[in-house]
Amino acid sequence: MNTRIAEVESFVVTLPRDTPYLGPLGPGETVNARGYLVRAGNRTIYPTVDRSVVIKLTAKDGTVGWGETYGLVAPDAVTAIVADVLGPCLLGRDARDAVVIQEDLRDLMRVRGFRGGFWGDAIAGVDIATWDLFGKLTGQPVVKLLGGQRHARIPAYVSGLPRATLAERVQLAREFQARGFGAFKYAAVVSHEGIAEELAALREALGAQAKLMVDLHWQFDAASAIQLIDRLAPFSPHFVEAPCAPEDLDGQARVAATVRVPVALGEEWSTVHDALPRLQRGAMAIVQPEVAHCGLSQFMQIARLAQAFHVRVIPHATVGVGIFQAASLQASAALSNMTMHEYQHSVFDRHLPLLRTTMRCESGAFTLPEGPGLGVEPAEALWAHARSAGSVS
Ligand code: MG
Repeated sequence: MNTRIAEVESFVVTLPRDTPYLGPLGPGETVNARGYLVRAGNRTIYPTVDRSVVIKLTAKDGTVGWGETYGLVAPDAVTAIVADVLGPCLLGRDARDAVVIQEDLRDLMRVRGFRGGFWGDAIAGVDIATWDLFGKLTGQPVVKLLGGQRHARIPAYVSGLPRATLAERVQLAREFQARGFGAFKYAAVVSHEGIAEELAALREALGAQAKLMVDLHWQFDAASAIQLIDRLAPFSPHFVEAPCAPEDLDGQARVAATVRVPVALGEEWSTVHDALPRLQRGAMAIVQPEVAHCGLSQFMQIARLAQAFHVRVIPHATVGVGIFQAASLQASAALSNMTMHEYQHSVFDRHLPLLRTTMRCESGAFTLPEGPGLGVEPAEALWAHARSAGSVS
């Protein structure tokens, strides 16, 4: 066994989809020449395809580790960082030093804006690949390396109801309920019939036991958010997500202190330094780390810090082929304060044939993939959708 990293490669994986992420185009929404649309509800840009960046690390003995991060927009910003900066600094490092390597990579840009964005995503992808390689080299599932396994099944909530009308969205939720799912989240930016109206309709259709959540997508100032959440409260939401702008820490804290509904935050965070001031101010009841932004090392640091504040962890799941999904499940399986995991059914199920894995999401829960490392390997089918975007050796 030679555990030193000998090659760092990155790939952009692009997968077509019939309906854009979050649902059909709304009033006034159009697709531009680059294939992007801007959602009117939150003024955020999204691609019309599914896209992510896959990282491959090869050790000197030939063992391979896989990572993945965001590639929704400008994926080559991430691949350029990997090829130009991170890759050369990884060569010769011992993959079993995953946390130490991640700390060193963040230090490279400490005085030049190391806190997030494409830089954070690039580190996240590399960090996930380092953990996978660590597991493959030692024959251990990543969950064992993260402190030990507490869960074999991870409750899943259905995320997003990408249909054009409220009646169709309610029907889709009913179909998932019939398949054993008990928790559902809808996206306020496509609640064209009204945010409170959508929650009321889902509650009536799915019954008192269903866990219902809404993603408010950072749309509101604190006063407006409080007013809206007061209207949602009679329908007993399990949580409301991202009521205020990510930079509005005061607003986040004021909302959480005022409403009687648990608030969830954190999908955009890159490091524990995003979580710390919000935990100190009681700005949320639930943290939602996204491993494709923060990587496994920071995911665990955020989750363990939340544990110390008696705050729950319900991880976020973005658009990818399933490699970072496996990483997020490995981390989730180690945590006593994890209660559910997001299930992006419109992404996860379609992309599963691109991986060799036992990972599944059925009857309301994820099963943790078996095998060393993350428990996923790209299948041959993946490479038809991948473009090589750099190699350092
Ligand atoms: Mg969200």
